[in-house]
Amino acid sequence: MRGRARKLPPGADPPVTPRLGELPAPPTPPGLLKTSKLVKVYRADGVTVEAVRGVDIEVAIGEFVAIMGPSGSGKSTLLHVLGGLEPATSGEIWLRGKRVDRLSTAAWAILRRQHIGFVFQFFNLLSNMTVADNVELPALLAGATPRQARKRREELLAELGIADKAGAAPARLSGGEQQRVALARALANEPSVLMADEPTGNLDSSNTRDVLRLLRRAHAGGQAILMVTHDARVASLADRVINLYDGMVADDAKIVPIPRPVNGVADVLELRG
Ligand code: ADP
Repeated sequence: MRGRARKLPPGADPPVTPRLGELPAPPTPPGLLKTSKLVKVYRADGVTVEAVRGVDIEVAIGEFVAIMGPSGSGKSTLLHVLGGLEPATSGEIWLRGKRVDRLSTAAWAILRRQHIGFVFQFFNLLSNMTVADNVELPALLAGATPRQARKRREELLAELGIADKAGAAPARLSGGEQQRVALARALANEPSVLMADEPTGNLDSSNTRDVLRLLRRAHAGGQAILMVTHDARVASLADRVINLYDGMVADDAKIVPIPRPVNGVADVLELRG
C-alpha cells in the first residue's frame, strides 16, 4: 500500500500541511564534548604548575571551536587532556555522552582511534613509513580492512592535492605537504572531532591558506574541530572562540555570521511564508 495515495472518505477534510511556524522545534543536538571543573596540575621536581584550573566547556556535534589565549595559558594542555594524551588531575570529561576522564591509557587509545583525530604543529609523521602508510595506519588501527583503508587514503590524498606523494617518505615533502598528510591521517578514521594544536604554526602564508581551506572544507562537511591557535585570522574561521587566561576560560563567544540583507522580492515572499 505504501506510496499509493489514499482515497479520502466523502466530506473529509484534506490533510493540512503544517505551516512553518507550527512545525515542532528541532531536537537539540546531543553534545559532542563536555567538561566539568576540569583541572590539570603538573608536578615535577617539587614544582607544581596548575595548567588548567576548573574549565567548563561544551562543544556541539559539528562545531568548530578555536582556543586562544596568551602563551602559557593552558591551551595545549587543555587539548591534550581532552584528547586523553595526558590524564586529567580532577574534574569530568564527557565524549558523546560517555564519561571518559577515568579511562585507562589503553581505553583512551581505543577511544582516540575511533573518535579523535590529532594534528600537531610539528606534523608528527612516522618518518620510516611512506605517506600512504602514515595515512592508512589510523584507519587500520580503528578496524578498517586494508582495502577500506587504502580507498579512504586514496580519497583523502586526492582531495588534499597530494595523491602523487603517496609513495614518498614524509621527509621528502615540504612543510605544507607534510601538514596535509597529517590532516589526511587525522581524518582517516572519520573522527567525531579533529583536535589541532597550532596546525599552521610552522607554515608560510600560502601553506597556511591551503591548510585552512582544507579545515574549512572538513568543517563544511560536518566535521567538529577543536583548534588551538595564536592567529586571529585562523580563529575567524571558527563558529566560536574560547579564550583561556591563566588556565581558566576568560571568554567564550560565538562568532555571529553577518545576516543577509533583505533586498529582493524573493526575500519578501520568503518572510511572508
Ligand atoms: P599554552 O599552550 O597556552 O602555551 P601550555 O598548556 O603549554 O600553555 O602550558 C600551560 C602551563 O603548564 C605553562 O606554565 C607550562 O609551563 C606548564 N606545562 C605544560 N606542560 C608541562 C609539563 N609537561 N610539565 C610541567 N609543566 C608543564
